Amino acid sequence: MPVPLLDLKAQHATIRDDVVAAAMAVIDAQAFILGDPVGELECDVAGLSHTKYAVGCANGTDAILLALRALGVGRDDEVITTPFTFFATAGAIHNVGARPVFVDIDPRTYNIDPAAVAAAITPRTKAVIVVDLFGQMAAIEQVRAQVGTLPIIEDAAQSIGARRQIDGQWVMAGEAADIGTFSFFPSKNLGGWGDGGLAVTQQDALFEALMKLRTHGSRRTYYHEIVGYNSRLDALQAAVLRAKLPHLAGWSAKRRENAAYYTAAFADLEWLTPPYIDPANESIFNQYTIRVAERDALQAHLKAAGIGTSVYYPLPLHRQPCFAYLGYAEGACPESERASQQVLSLPIFPELTRAQLDEVVQAVRSFPGR
Ligand SMILES: *Cc1c(COP(=O)(O)O)cnc(C)c1O
Repeated sequence: MPVPLLDLKAQHATIRDDVVAAAMAVIDAQAFILGDPVGELECDVAGLSHTKYAVGCANGTDAILLALRALGVGRDDEVITTPFTFFATAGAIHNVGARPVFVDIDPRTYNIDPAAVAAAITPRTKAVIVVDLFGQMAAIEQVRAQVGTLPIIEDAAQSIGARRQIDGQWVMAGEAADIGTFSFFPSKNLGGWGDGGLAVTQQDALFEALMKLRTHGSRRTYYHEIVGYNSRLDALQAAVLRAKLPHLAGWSAKRRENAAYYTAAFADLEWLTPPYIDPANESIFNQYTIRVAERDALQAHLKAAGIGTSVYYPLPLHRQPCFAYLGYAEGACPESERASQQVLSLPIFPELTRAQLDEVVQAVRSFPGR
């Protein structure tokens, strides 16, 4: 029996009636752009994230783009970020006319190294984007301690509902940043029926700017104070996401259970490093990512056994052809480069059965190793 990396149909089957009813209400109302479901979802996600405001938009990439624009980042500014992330993080920096400045990661969590951020600050630095990779939050308070009042965007596309203990208090993904951004791409822990995104903030001025930017720089119809974008969240997506949101905490808890099961089952394998979760963090395990020296051979072995896996990410962003103009040589971010050679993500979705988990475990354990 093959085990896919992700099985969206298995999840859909458990909630079909609720989600379809929510979608049908939008269809019957024939009100598709923004509207009540979007405002209600924004309230819900602001509540979950402990933020004052939330602004829905077209996708997670646009949430980063709008955040950068809201912070006034533009031509010739520098934005410090990690090269070990999905492309969107740095693509958005480029697309506002700014220059991505890549600094290396902590090899255990794969999140940005706060000391490396400090070392990369120049008079042109306008913002920092931290990424909460694979579902665990970056050490945002340590980055904050390094950067003073420089704005921090938290790309929380993979970590909605994750939390981190800071000075004895639980802080939610998105809560401590100037702007936090989420994606509702179907493979995220909270996924829609297509593209969707959202930005959260505690600050009145940034909320106003985000609202304006998502509708062509206009708050009053046909009057434009700045040039913005058409980047709205569909009412249909918002209704679907709202119907799914009450399940998110349970789904993420199930992912943590699955992760604990794998990690216990792999404990004696010297050739395999399971995910390291910072003791301050509660991860939502958007991915369960192991590290092995002979990664490609293991992936081929698992594929032959019918196990779906993926490599997030095979080429760090500072080495992408489109960023060659930035001039990063091989070795510029050695931990990111090593990680890209060694990581492999295994099936972790909440609906995995015990039999499927055991199948993955058996297949991994039967790898000749080294
Ligand atoms: C998914 C993702 C995005 C982009 O989200 P889209 O909704 O696909 O545009 C950005 N950053 C990270 C880290 C992601 O995983």
